[in-house]
Amino acid sequence: MDRKKLVTLWYFFMTILAMFYLQNYVLGSNRAEPISYSEMIHLLESEQIVAVEVNEQYIRGHLKSARPGGSQYVVTARMDTELASLLGQYNVEYKGIIESHLLANLLSWFMPMAVFLGIWFIIMRRMSGAQGGLGGLTAIGKSNAKVYVETDTQVSFDDVAGVDEAKVELQEIVNFLKQPDQYGRLGAHVPRGILLLGPPGTGKTLLARAVAGEAKVPFFSINGSEFVEMFVGVGAARVRDLFEQARKQAPCIIFIDELDAVGRARGINPYGGGHDEKEQTLNQLLSELDGFQPGQQVVLLAATNRPEILDPALLRPGRFDRQILVDRPDKIGRVAILKVHLKKVKTAAHFRIDEIAALTPGFTGADLANLVNEAAVLATRRGADEISLDDFTSAVERIVAGLEKRNRLLNPREREVVAYHEMGHALVAMSLPGTDVVHKVSIIPRGVGALGYTIQRPTEDRFLMTRAELENKMAVLLGGRASEILVFNELSTGAADDLARATDIARSMVMRYGMDEGLGLVAYEQPHGSFLAGLPEDHVEARKYSEATARDIDQAVLAIMKLAFDKATEILGQRRDMLTKCAQQLLENETLSREALLELVESDSPGPKLVEGIGPD
Ligand code: ADP
Ligand code: MG
Ligand code: ZN
Repeated sequence: MDRKKLVTLWYFFMTILAMFYLQNYVLGSNRAEPISYSEMIHLLESEQIVAVEVNEQYIRGHLKSARPGGSQYVVTARMDTELASLLGQYNVEYKGIIESHLLANLLSWFMPMAVFLGIWFIIMRRMSGAQGGLGGLTAIGKSNAKVYVETDTQVSFDDVAGVDEAKVELQEIVNFLKQPDQYGRLGAHVPRGILLLGPPGTGKTLLARAVAGEAKVPFFSINGSEFVEMFVGVGAARVRDLFEQARKQAPCIIFIDELDAVGRARGINPYGGGHDEKEQTLNQLLSELDGFQPGQQVVLLAATNRPEILDPALLRPGRFDRQILVDRPDKIGRVAILKVHLKKVKTAAHFRIDEIAALTPGFTGADLANLVNEAAVLATRRGADEISLDDFTSAVERIVAGLEKRNRLLNPREREVVAYHEMGHALVAMSLPGTDVVHKVSIIPRGVGALGYTIQRPTEDRFLMTRAELENKMAVLLGGRASEILVFNELSTGAADDLARATDIARSMVMRYGMDEGLGLVAYEQPHGSFLAGLPEDHVEARKYSEATARDIDQAVLAIMKLAFDKATEILGQRRDMLTKCAQQLLENETLSREALLELVESDSPGPKLVEGIGPD
């Protein structure tokens, strides 16, 4: 809950209390206590009454001193017409009045209420400050309390480390915001929306702020979850308002953090309710994105750690069409991040940062920032003057225990297996012609499922593949498992995805491409559109071949798989030393670029020479 709402809540609470107090005590003493007629006479006779008011129904006496109940007045029904003479006899002043109790009662509640409401309005206006104020109830959607505008974020690219690739891409945005004329010279315009993807804590928010800080433009930031908070329709109004404000202040940056909160794909809302608030908000966001003029110098940045649930419409060209991956840092990246955060604390003179980096595989920038702080806390508790390496190692131990559950950090043994597995893929790929070029090998866990990854980029778009190429591709896929068996002689679950993909290829070779001699030139399976054609998932095609053929197909698939696996094993067996060397290097660095890999392979290769993948690269 924000400040404004809190103040309002408190204010009304206090108001109600105050009104009760007013009613009971202040007005209460003004209110007459009903008594009997005889008592009134008695009071009169004992000269306790100073003045009397008489109307058609009541007689109201003003007492000399308050009664035990606190009221200064008594009232009784009017009965006697001879009262006047009696009153005269005792020398009491009296008069008759006609009053409306209803009006008086209403007024006694209504007047203070109006006063309090007035004060509330003034407070709220003060709080909204210069940003426009509260223009009546229609202004509920005004996002002025939610949008944070910073004219100077005071964050620069130097504060964000270990994400160099992302920085290079964002530098372009900075250049555009700084010199839009220069940029538009040839008619180019910046992408409208840039989406930062990556696990939590890798510095996405920090990067966005750094872009604004570098370009020295206002930074409008809002959290996706804030769009969808209040009443129905407010989210959409807020989006409109946000963009309106931003356009007025162009050049500027709008940053939507946690985009997944509003950008969740329509129709997969787990809480039911189809066209709900979120959908309206998302639609508004989409239409604002489309409403951007190329000339408008408003750059839209967004961040998410769950790109897979985003509505595809958000990712279409012209919307968030550029996506920048902000991944967990590798060892070199961690050194750089630690340097940034160690600047703020006092460390021992001879301090090996790379030792800490080596201790923290899988840590994100936020984890490292936390680590530095923990270490500082430990050192302080120790009463030391500076932070030592020991403080860091104990801090790492503390944090890792917590992280292991959260971040699926790998233990050393698992890391080794993954390193050999990934190097298996990479070496087989580099040894066989016609396979895609290996760009990067990594053992930094990424996303769900994959423990490491080998990025192969196709060198050209392929429409036709030969049988040999398909077999090579399978060998690459099975290289991971082959390597594990070769080195550890053990099976692990890490190859499940590879196996599934290789099997897929083998089945297609047999059933669709007619590539198996035994089964011959027959298509056993019609090519089907699969997902794209929108077939239901449980769609089962009628089988058009016999039991016996089915068995043959299975055997053929098995044979092809075995062939590919043997090929991978053979390649790796011949390069056993190279495999070990590369895997150790990978363990050390966590990622190996194509250049690093080639260098390692070429430096001294006792095994047969490697053939680089063909193609222009
Ligand atoms: P995200 O938005 O990706 O979840 P944040 O940007 O909020 O992560 O990062 C949280 C904090 O972690 C930052 O304020 C910063 O102190 C630290 N941090 C994260 N990544 C980095 C990085 N690459 N370099 C320096 N500090 C980082
Ligand atoms: Mg964030
Ligand atoms: Zn694999």
